[in-house]
Amino acid sequence: PSSSPDLALAQAQKILREAFGHREFRPPQDAIVTRLIGGGDALVLMPTGGGKSLCYQIPALARPGTAIVISPLIALMDDQVQALQRRGIAAAALHSAANAPDAIEHRLRAGALRILYCAPERLLQERMLRLLRELSISLFAIDEAHCVAQWGHHFRPEYRQLGRLRALFPGVPRIALTASADLASRAEIQQSLALGNAQVFVQSFDRPNIRYRIEQGSGAREALAEFLRRQRGAGIVYCLSRRKVEETASWLQSVGYRAQPYHAGLPADQRSAHQIDFLSGKIQIMVATIAFGMGIDKADVRFVAHLNLPKSIEAYYQETGRAGRDGKPAEAWMHYSLQDLLLLRQMIQQSGASSEQRCAEEERLQAMLDLTEEVGCRRQKLLGYFGEKLDQPCGNCDNCLHAPPLWDASEAAQMALSAAYRSGQRCGVQHLIDILIGRDTPRVRQAQHHRLQVFGIGRRLPPRDWQQVFRHLLARGHLQPHPEGSGLILHASSRPILRKEQRIWLRSGTANTCSPEPGRRS
Ligand code: ADP
Ligand code: ZN
Repeated sequence: PSSSPDLALAQAQKILREAFGHREFRPPQDAIVTRLIGGGDALVLMPTGGGKSLCYQIPALARPGTAIVISPLIALMDDQVQALQRRGIAAAALHSAANAPDAIEHRLRAGALRILYCAPERLLQERMLRLLRELSISLFAIDEAHCVAQWGHHFRPEYRQLGRLRALFPGVPRIALTASADLASRAEIQQSLALGNAQVFVQSFDRPNIRYRIEQGSGAREALAEFLRRQRGAGIVYCLSRRKVEETASWLQSVGYRAQPYHAGLPADQRSAHQIDFLSGKIQIMVATIAFGMGIDKADVRFVAHLNLPKSIEAYYQETGRAGRDGKPAEAWMHYSLQDLLLLRQMIQQSGASSEQRCAEEERLQAMLDLTEEVGCRRQKLLGYFGEKLDQPCGNCDNCLHAPPLWDASEAAQMALSAAYRSGQRCGVQHLIDILIGRDTPRVRQAQHHRLQVFGIGRRLPPRDWQQVFRHLLARGHLQPHPEGSGLILHASSRPILRKEQRIWLRSGTANTCSPEPGRRS
């Protein structure tokens, strides 16, 4: 290895050009490879497509010995190995489905491999560790490092043992890489992989050409129609269910759009035909479940519209990230309703996952909701979630472009909570609104709720403002669906609101709700 960073960088640049055919590093690739070549550890956070592979492949070629790359996905390993072999680099993969593992081990022993991809369970076999200790190892790269996060979607128990490498291979640099890690999982990665001395590199997750817009309320179709009137280029409309995909696609066709559905329930030939037509521009709008998009290489997608709430910020970021890959202006637009939220909460509660996992899912959903409720710059909030600080408001999101006028909903929130409490925490939103505005419906009568003190105390506010208040209380978790029953119960976090210690500001005049919420009785 080179002794000075300048020499290391020069060497890395030479490899970048000669072995990989690229002209320049994309920062912070240069700093990362220099660090590794110099023998230091690194933790790399980079969005998908940012260029993580080169961060370890180049130091692997610059340092003597064999580099070991730990990856959880067999398909990914095989892809990478083939790409390296095409460039004439001696690489192989050892995993449960590997061809001729003995021959690979033989080459490894002979020092004939520059890069060995290895599944974590394979690496952690004592025999394998002993073998590696006899060899010259240039570095360890731990790909998809978020797999150590215990309550994450991708948890792999073996990943948590990789911290042992530090003691077993002192002096061998280690690099961990991931495209998805909020601040909490980042700390978990550093701790369980024993990367206390690692330098952390974060490539910005910012996509400045994407304009973020989030609307809430009912009347999703009208809102979508309004949004689409301003769109010229190609786009994706995401829906939560297959049925909604089908309905939305036929509706768009009926109003004259070149739109087609895409979901896992369609016959394969239809799916691929729609995909080809979308790539070629024959179809303008693909209406899809989130099954669509992975591995779709279309740089000029001009908009991504969500007709439902994604279940996490990671998902929102991934999905909206399919817009504007060409760097030209693009739109990420979302419209969601109270029903989405209740549905997602229900799905989490009934998922059959462990209670810790459900809690983690709840937290992820909560972060997504905080983004939708944000009254300041969306981009600052979004990037903040990935631990990135944007000093100035972005100027390219709905809130920056039109500072939302706000109204003080503190008193209304208090009334809403009281109504839920006094009616015995057994009622749903619509019933509570009926109580608040003093509607004498048969159900109200039957439950004797017209006798409550809170009956009619909110008649000064229109029902749609009440919808908004409840949406906020639900979004923030102050009100929660009863775990078994059907009503809404108060969470401890609602106390400061009831005690008038916490003020609540909501945006005024946003809800484009002329039409009633679906399923609402009038
Ligand atoms: P990630 O693993 O972060 O998703 P990859 O390592 O697969 O990203 O790289 C994404 C693409 O970017 C690849 O096609 C790769 O060849 C290309 N790439 C990476 N770094 C550079 C660079 N410095 N110059 C040009 N292309 C690059
Ligand atoms: Zn902004």
